[in-house]
Amino acid sequence: MVTRVIHVSHNQLYILVIIFFVVANFEVWFLNFWQNKETAELTIMKNRMIATSAGETPRGVLAEPTSPYYELLEQFNELQSYVRHSQYSANREINNYQTLLASLPVGVINVGRHHMIDVFNQTAADMLGVEMPEVPILDSLVIRQFTLSEIINHTFNTNQRQHSILNLMIDGEARQYDVSTLFHQSGSNAEVMVMLYDLTEVLKLERMQADFLANASHEFKTPLTAITGFVETLQGDAGADEETRTQFLQIVADEAKRLSALVNDILSLSRMQHKVDEKISNLQISAIVEQQLEKIDTKTVTVHNDIAPDFSVSGIASDVSTIVQNLLTNSVKYNKTDGEVWISAYKDTQQWQIKVSDSGIGIPLNQQSRIFERFYRGDESRQRKIASGTGLGLAIVNEIVNQHNGEINIKSQVGVGTTISVILPL
Ligand code: ADP
Repeated sequence: MVTRVIHVSHNQLYILVIIFFVVANFEVWFLNFWQNKETAELTIMKNRMIATSAGETPRGVLAEPTSPYYELLEQFNELQSYVRHSQYSANREINNYQTLLASLPVGVINVGRHHMIDVFNQTAADMLGVEMPEVPILDSLVIRQFTLSEIINHTFNTNQRQHSILNLMIDGEARQYDVSTLFHQSGSNAEVMVMLYDLTEVLKLERMQADFLANASHEFKTPLTAITGFVETLQGDAGADEETRTQFLQIVADEAKRLSALVNDILSLSRMQHKVDEKISNLQISAIVEQQLEKIDTKTVTVHNDIAPDFSVSGIASDVSTIVQNLLTNSVKYNKTDGEVWISAYKDTQQWQIKVSDSGIGIPLNQQSRIFERFYRGDESRQRKIASGTGLGLAIVNEIVNQHNGEINIKSQVGVGTTISVILPL
C-alpha cells in the first residue's frame, strides 16, 4: 500500500490536489449560493421598506413557499398592501378636500401658529383681490385688510368665534363680506379658521327690491291722489257744473288709465323674472310689427315698416312682441307732429336684429345710460309731461334682452331722433 502511494506520479498528485480544492470550494459556493438567496429576499424587503418610508408606492416581495422567511415575507406583503390601501384612501380624501376647498363659494383661510397661514383657497384669493399664495405664508403678507386682520387677532386674543359684516375696498370697488372666524386647537396650538362669504350681490338685490317698492308706491300714489282728489271735488259743489264735471272726469279717467298701465308693466316685469320655459316658434317679424302698430295711435306720425314679409326668426312670440311694442310706442310717443318712424330687421347665422328709428325729440347723452332703469323717465317726459308713461317700458325690454343674452344699442341726438336696436342670438 505504502509502496503504491509512494509510486503515485507527480501528475496524479496534481490532479488529486485540484479535485480536493474543487470539492472543498464547491461546498463554500453551494452554501454561499443558498445563503445569498435567502438574504437577498431580506435585502429586497429592507429596500421596499425604505422606499415605502420615502413615500413610494408600497410593493411586496415575491415569497417562495420553500423560503425559511416565507411567513415573514407573507406578513410583510400584507402590511405593504394595507399601507398601499391606506395611502390610496388618504390621497383620495386629500384630493376630495382640495377639490371641495377650491370650488367652495366661501373663502377659507386657516391661520396657525406664529400667524402662519396653512390653508388658503382660491375663493379667498379672489375675494381679497390677491394672487393665490404659496402656503405656509405669514398672514400679514396676504391679508392687507385692517378690519379683517383685527377680527383674526381678536379671535386669537379672546379664544372666541367672531362674526361681522365688513365693507372692504377690493381693487377699488366697495364689497360687503360676511366674515366668521372659528377658534380651534390643533394639538397644543391655537388656530383660527376664517370664512368669507360675499354678500355684495345679495345686498345690492335687496337694495334694488327696496328701491323698486319705494318707487312703485310713489308711482301708485300720484294717480291715486289725483283720482281721490278729483272725485271728492266732484262730490262737492263743483260737480254740479257740467263743464267742470266733464273736465275732471277726463282727468280721473286718464289717471285710472295710468294706474292700469302701471299695474300691467309691473306684472310684465314680474312675469319676466319668474318665467317658465316658453315655446320657441317661427316668428314672422313684419306681421308682429303690424299687429303692434294696430294697438298704437300713430295718427301724428308716418310709420315705415321696412321688414320683408317673409323675414322670420325662431324665438318666443310674447318676448318679441313686447320688445316691438315698447320700442314702437316710444318712437311714436316721443316724436314730433308729422314725424317719422322706420323699422327694419336683419339677421345672419348667429343673431338677428330689430332696429327702430325715429325723427323725434332725441335723448340727451347724460340720460341715455339711465333710460333702461326701472321707473326712470327722461326729464322732458316727466317735467313737461309730453307723453304719459310708467318709466318701465325700456326696463322691460332690457330684462327680456338680458334673459336672452342679447344686446341693446342706442344712438340718439336731441332734436334729431333716436335709433334703438335690439340684437338677439338665434
Ligand atoms: P316711459 O316711456 O314710460 O317714460 P320708458 O322706459 O319706455 O318709459 O322710457 C324711459 C325714458 O326714455 C322715457 O321717459 C324717455 O325720456 C326716453 N325715451 C325712450 N325712448 C325714446 C325715444 N324713442 N325718443 C326719445 N326719448 C325716448
